[in-house]
Parts: sequence; structure tokens; C-alpha cells
Amino acid sequence: MKKLEQLYEGKAKKVFATDDPAVVIVSYKDDATAFNGEKRGTILGKGAINNRMTNHLMRKLEAAGIPTHLVEQLSDRETAVKKVSIVPLEVIVRNISAGSFAKRYGVKEGIVFDAPTIEFSYKNDELGDPLINSYQAVALKLATWDEIETIKKYAFAVNDFLKAELLACGITLVDFKLEFGKLPDGTIILADEISPDTCRFWDVETGEKLDKDRFRRDLGNVEGAYQEMARRLLGK
Ligand code: UDP
Repeated sequence: MKKLEQLYEGKAKKVFATDDPAVVIVSYKDDATAFNGEKRGTILGKGAINNRMTNHLMRKLEAAGIPTHLVEQLSDRETAVKKVSIVPLEVIVRNISAGSFAKRYGVKEGIVFDAPTIEFSYKNDELGDPLINSYQAVALKLATWDEIETIKKYAFAVNDFLKAELLACGITLVDFKLEFGKLPDGTIILADEISPDTCRFWDVETGEKLDKDRFRRDLGNVEGAYQEMARRLLGK
């Protein structure tokens, strides 16, 4: 597969065309942003860790029956993925209160829910990714009812799978964000990434945060947290 011109540069990844029109290459960067791009920095080694962790988890999700965009890892930082049109919704599943949920509803972090919650944000940087419900998403034609049903089903299935996988590594899965894409035939598949950038991971024993909150909140040892997650999940 030949890497061609850059199609897009996002906050954490670049996307390149290939000689196969159905495949693009994503290249994970060490750049980190938070608060809708207001806070910027570099997390050394993050790109490679997020690439390897995402692929490891997506391979297992595929095996568990959840379709993903993964084609093949090309290098430490680069992966070939199926070209999709991204459904412009951030899909957030939560098992425990944290972050914007705790702030929005005026509750402390760490409340363990009886059942997971799901919420959507409209992917739009100019508007700051506002919260949106499924009626509004359908009204704005961001997705159809059928697509939203499929997305919800996959998102909860990903949660069940990830929760168990992480617990086996001594990690509590607090919450995470998914993005889905549409293939030319309309099939919905899991896209984007699953990494410490997009999930909250707490150590089961100590409660230590092992995710991007260390960067967002200036907690220190940011690189160490990413490395620790790689060690627990990938064994190095
Ligand atoms: N998240 C993300 N990208 C975003 C917003 C949130 O990956 O643009 C992830 C975040 O890492 C966390 C989960 O989604 O695991 C829930 O985030 P929350 O809504 O609490 O927002 P935050 O506190 O990160 O602003």
C-alpha cells in the first residue's frame, strides 16, 4: 500500500490518502490538546502508545463481533484504516461520574452508576462540541434513527468488553468517547481511537488516574501514565 498526500490534520492525528481509495492511513501525533484546543502540549511517546493500544483493542472488538475500521498496523505510529465518513457525534459512555458530567450536574467524581449512561455531543469545534440528544441529531440529519440505534448497541457492547478487559489489568473504566463512521454502503463501524486520550482509566487499587486527565489537570507524570497503561494492556 502506497502512502499518498495528506488529506487532513486533526489535533492528535494526521490522515493520508493511499493508492487504495477505500483505505486511508492515520498517523498518531504526540500533540495533546484539552479544553477545545485552549491548552496545548506534547506527551512524548503518546502517538505510538495510542496507535498500538487502539489497534490491540479494535482487533479484540472485531473478534467479539463489533465491526471496526482497522485494516492493519503499518508502523509504531501509523495504521491503515477503512475510509469512512465520520458520523459527527461524539458518543460518550460513563460508568462512574467524572469530568464534564460531574461539573454539569454538580456532583462529585467517583459515583458508581447502577447502569452505564450514554450521551452525544455534536462534533463541531466552532461550537465547542455541544451536547445533543438523539431527536436533535436526527432533526439536524447527523444520523438516522436506525444509525443511532446501531451506535448505541455497539457503544454499550464496547463498554462491556472494555470494562472486563481493563479490570483484568487492574484498571477501572470510568468513561470514554467513541466515534463511528459510515462505509459507502451505509454500514456503521467503529472508527477513531480508544486510548488514554479518549478514556478515563483509574487504578483499581489506588484510584490513581492513568489517562489524559493528568495533562488536563496538570497532575504531573503524564508520560508515565501512558507508559503504565501500555505496560498493563500490551505488556510493555
Ligand atoms: N472525551 C474525548 N474527547 C472530547 C471530550 C471527551 O475523548 O472531546 C472523552 C474524555 O477523555 C472522557 C470522556 O470522553 O474519557 C468523557 O469526557 P467528559 O465529557 O467528562 O469531558 P471532559 O471532562 O474531558 O471535558
